[in-house]
Amino acid sequence: MQKFDYDVAVLGGGSAGYAAARTAAGAGLKTAVIEGGEEAGGLCILRGCMPTKALLYAAEVMHLAGHAGPWGIRAENVSFDFEKVMARKNALIKGFADYRRQQLAGGKFKFVRANARFLDAHTVKLTPHPSFGHPLPAKRGEGRGEGGSQLITAKNFIITTGSVVAPPPLPQLRETGYITSDDALTLTRLPESLIVLGGGAIACEFAQFFARFGVKVTLLQRSEHILKEFDPDAAVEIEKVFRREDIEIFTNTKLIDTKRDGGLKTVSFQHEGRTVSVSAGEILFALGRVPNTASLGLDQAGVITERGRIVANELMQTSAPHIYTAGDCTGPHEIVHLTVQQGEIAAHNVAQPGRPRKMDYRLLISVVFTEPQVAFVGLTEKEAKARDISYLTASYPFNDHGKSLIMEAKDGFVKLLADPKSGEILGGACVGPMGGELIHEIVTAMAKRMTVHELAAMPHYHPTLAEIWTYPAEELAGQI
Ligand SMILES: Cc1cc2nc3c(=O)[nH]c(=O)nc-3n(C[C@H](O)[C@H](O)[C@H](O)COP(=O)(O)OP(=O)(O)OC[C@H]3O[C@@H](n4cnc5c(N)ncnc54)[C@H](O)[C@@H]3O)c2cc1C
Repeated sequence: MQKFDYDVAVLGGGSAGYAAARTAAGAGLKTAVIEGGEEAGGLCILRGCMPTKALLYAAEVMHLAGHAGPWGIRAENVSFDFEKVMARKNALIKGFADYRRQQLAGGKFKFVRANARFLDAHTVKLTPHPSFGHPLPAKRGEGRGEGGSQLITAKNFIITTGSVVAPPPLPQLRETGYITSDDALTLTRLPESLIVLGGGAIACEFAQFFARFGVKVTLLQRSEHILKEFDPDAAVEIEKVFRREDIEIFTNTKLIDTKRDGGLKTVSFQHEGRTVSVSAGEILFALGRVPNTASLGLDQAGVITERGRIVANELMQTSAPHIYTAGDCTGPHEIVHLTVQQGEIAAHNVAQPGRPRKMDYRLLISVVFTEPQVAFVGLTEKEAKARDISYLTASYPFNDHGKSLIMEAKDGFVKLLADPKSGEILGGACVGPMGGELIHEIVTAMAKRMTVHELAAMPHYHPTLAEIWTYPAEELAGQI
């Protein structure tokens, strides 16, 4: 029997990696986490969910302060201090990141700061990040490679190396220059105007953040609507709000060219059969991210990828049966709670192969933290049609609901999808105030496979936003 340094080595110490390591070590496996980033903490904490939501909340406070008139409140000349807005975000992120680093360093597993690359199916070469400034410590039983690198062997691996910003679709974009979501989070001053390339969650969240802080924003989206994974009724509602907030939106576009002239950057694109050019002080490139797998030497380990994405089955097992994966490097959804669940399932299946657990995306949740927020769980109408699943649907608008009228939050609606025979709730969508919170009532209902009859009969306190769900539930219960 070959002896290995570790039972399992987790490559990457982000949300998926930490969840996998904690689970593997908790199951009694000798575990190492190898984290190669300049800063440990992972995307969600350092440059993803947390900093963006901290900034978006500031934008919401700013917007509310500037639009207090309907309640008879005069808040004239509302202004802001961008340095302080960013400083608050930075302080929060430092707190979250420090805590995560304590968890990584103080876990029941070995935490190694180095970049990993497979040499063969059971060996990785570790190279310290240049900024760490010290060679890796020599360990008994762990071989030494060239240039201070270290080799470690493991019986199993869990690859959780995350994602990187996608390469630009036009080579001239590099020359023109652009910022990514990472750069947007470290700006020290706001541009006067901004072109946002992309119409996904990250693009929309940043578009509204910048617009609410006075930046003239133009958003360019290739498909027919922004937020293309949602149903068009949700996207149309956000497009309406964005236009009201002076965000210019072009959908159905095809990028042709970009150039820089002095302080202005220009993007030319096809739109409704003609060439349109828009110019702004800055371009935010938000056309997505790609799996971070290119430099892992995966072919040495027999791990198959498809367009960079590690191919895995529902056990989170790759084409090399002793190697598992989780998170953005495998997908299919770049959503934190799923990366955590995948990490836990991968580690569980390494520890207990005889009692395997599988990923189940029936309760897929997606939230966009614009205002109004956009959220769905389970089936969308788009997907139901594509998969030929029969459903009944009913929706109800926030402009006819007591609590949202009190809040002057009149944009959006809730929608339920139900099985036409049993009435089981198949999906829910909410575009509206606190949509990301409200959707969790439907997540709970779907987790317990509740019917619309049961949801309609459930008590809801009055007046709350949550009671809006009873209207489509009652309508569907009446139909079934
Ligand atoms: C702007 C933005 C906003 C977002 N907002 C949300 C949100 O609101 N809600 C939500 O659910 N999701 C959100 N996401 C997505 C979410 O952040 C990711 O899905 C999640 O953080 C991915 O976790 P991960 O563990 O797979 O990857 P990561 O957290 O990226 O971890 C991968 C780790 O692997 C390390 N690594 C890479 N290569 C190597 C190597 N060769 N050796 C060793 N270590 C390596 C990296 O340094 C990194 O620390 C957002 C993303 C972005 C960019």
